[in-house]
Amino acid sequence: MATLKGIPVSAGISIGRAFFLNRSGAGPLPRQTLPEALVGPEMVRLDRAIEQFAQEIEQARERIPADLREHALIIDSHLMILKDPKLSGVAKRYIQTLGINAEWALDKAVADLEKAFEALDDQYFRDRIQDVRTVSGRVQARLAGQTAEIRAIESRVVLMAHDVSPADTASLETDKIMALVTVQGGKTSHTGILARTLGIPAVVGVTELEREVRDGDLVVVDGLRGVVVLSPAEEELARLSDLKYQFEAYQAGIMRGCHLPGETIDGYRLKVKANIEMLEEVPTVVNNGGEGIGLYRTEYSYMNRAKLPTEEELYQEYLDLATIMSPRRVTLRTLDAGADKFVSTLGSLDERNPALGLRAIRLCMHHRDIFMTQLRAMLRASVAGNISVMFPMISGLREIRQAKAMLAEARAQLRQEGHRFNADLPVGIMMELPSAVMIAEILAREVDFFSIGTNDLIQYSLGIDRTNRYVSHMYQPLHPAVVRSIKHVVDAAHQAGIEVSLCGEMASDPFCVPILMGMQIDCISLTPQAIPGIKRIIRQATMDDCKNLLKLVLESPSVTRTNALVQETIFRQFPDELMFYSSLLDREESPAH
Ligand code: PEP
Ligand code: MG
Repeated sequence: MATLKGIPVSAGISIGRAFFLNRSGAGPLPRQTLPEALVGPEMVRLDRAIEQFAQEIEQARERIPADLREHALIIDSHLMILKDPKLSGVAKRYIQTLGINAEWALDKAVADLEKAFEALDDQYFRDRIQDVRTVSGRVQARLAGQTAEIRAIESRVVLMAHDVSPADTASLETDKIMALVTVQGGKTSHTGILARTLGIPAVVGVTELEREVRDGDLVVVDGLRGVVVLSPAEEELARLSDLKYQFEAYQAGIMRGCHLPGETIDGYRLKVKANIEMLEEVPTVVNNGGEGIGLYRTEYSYMNRAKLPTEEELYQEYLDLATIMSPRRVTLRTLDAGADKFVSTLGSLDERNPALGLRAIRLCMHHRDIFMTQLRAMLRASVAGNISVMFPMISGLREIRQAKAMLAEARAQLRQEGHRFNADLPVGIMMELPSAVMIAEILAREVDFFSIGTNDLIQYSLGIDRTNRYVSHMYQPLHPAVVRSIKHVVDAAHQAGIEVSLCGEMASDPFCVPILMGMQIDCISLTPQAIPGIKRIIRQATMDDCKNLLKLVLESPSVTRTNALVQETIFRQFPDELMFYSSLLDREESPAH
């Protein structure tokens, strides 16, 4: 029995036989220098291989089933990589200037990009180097004369691969796959997206996979802890089967109750809504019992495309979202681009500290035409009747007034042009800067609701870059300063008679939610997959317990003490609920190296 370690990207446990979709099998790449006469033809050979692969993936895109539409977007990004001059152009320049063969030149172009990606701060964008490697690997295969061929899967299997490209997805018989394991891939890779869409466990980044596993081997994929157990001994197999059974029973149980309201035993009602980035996520929200969209991150419609979206496109997108969700409410956040949310169509700025720079509302005020287009689209879609709008990263009164003035201007334009809109559109702000927290009473008079963005509030309150792994151990949601800030905002909102919600990652952490409930927060908004589990916690809690816990937390002088206290209390109150959770409180206490 052996255990291979990787990164868990989709929860669950599966036991089955291994089936390799592909192996790296590349062996050493051929490296040759070419006589001058062959340089031109070698560039044509590379162009042909690229074109062949581009055609294959374009055809695959057409065949992608509707429920895997996210993969069509990934395919688009692979096409962009394929055609990007930084890859193909640089490779061709190497053929021309160094007189080397196409395989070698492409490999050198990828190595250059690897260096550039390594320097990026943001994990998501660093992970995109995997896409570059996948794309270049497939071009290398075409150069070696191989064609895309998917082996037929005969029975239900654990699919293993060096990498599963989104183009492969179109040809896979997904109902025969019990789990996914790959050598390539990181936390945000599309293998995880695919597995979560299919509801099967997945582990990626298993470097030893190809050496240790053969077709037909019995394996257990544990997507909870990120391990693959090979030829398990009888005892281990029994233990894992038991865990699999418990997990499935737990999942089935939380799904059964997910459409019930988020209400405590003693009748306190908390709205539970979803954070989403794309329309494709709506079915999951509805299936998982989401009571509305508390945060629609609109920036994703501006990413991965050559041109900015038009007013008409945005209007249609927002209207579709509101119509599908109706009568549930949908809160559209205006463009929060910049810093960790890079939008290439807006160009890159030379900023030393992008998180403290021209992002979110500041960027919108800088590009007023782009902001106006979005505000007009939101207002027009507001005829649906269930839309609210909120502005991100508000630091003070002036910004709210400026943003509201732009909204008024958009209204005036639309009125003049004869467009309809909801004149009473609720307008709120994200509370995610310490300056806004300090003057919450003043800001509450200006808006219809607050939504607390703890991802940024923690970053800015504790002075730690949320994308920097060296300080990620300091990212502590229950730091006394953070807890007091949230409490202050909730109290200020209630004194002013407006609603207050929380939409940071904290809202999906069962160790944090009871504390927020103790503050009597009105709503939480979280990732759709986490809604059933969090609702179950709410429905088993009492307001008295939550208030008592909050009292203890507010008295605690340090985050270490708070975390210990909260873990002990929550485990005692919900012993059966927490065995499958990894909490934000589980961060390492020591710095990463
Ligand atoms: C937040 O900052 O908590 C938030 C929800 O917004 P985002 O993560 O998109 O910055
Ligand atoms: Mg934020």
